[in-house]
Amino acid sequence: MSVWAIRCPCGLELVADDEKALLDLVTAHLGERHPQLVGAYEDEDILSIAYRKPSSPAVPGSTRAQLFS
Ligand SMILES: [Zn+2]
Repeated sequence: MSVWAIRCPCGLELVADDEKALLDLVTAHLGERHPQLVGAYEDEDILSIAYRKPSSPAVPGSTRAQLFS
């Protein structure tokens, strides 16, 4: 299993279980932290810079918990 992830220019890594969830997460993040960028990217643009990563990180306490808190 792997998950989708994307590194925002602000340095935050957003991680989601699938593409749809990642897009929702990115949209929410942009609205919260980068309102000037809302609507600036197509879904395809976002997914083109997304990458897969293992869903079970070797290091406990990844950023995943923070993102969903
Ligand atoms: Zn950001």
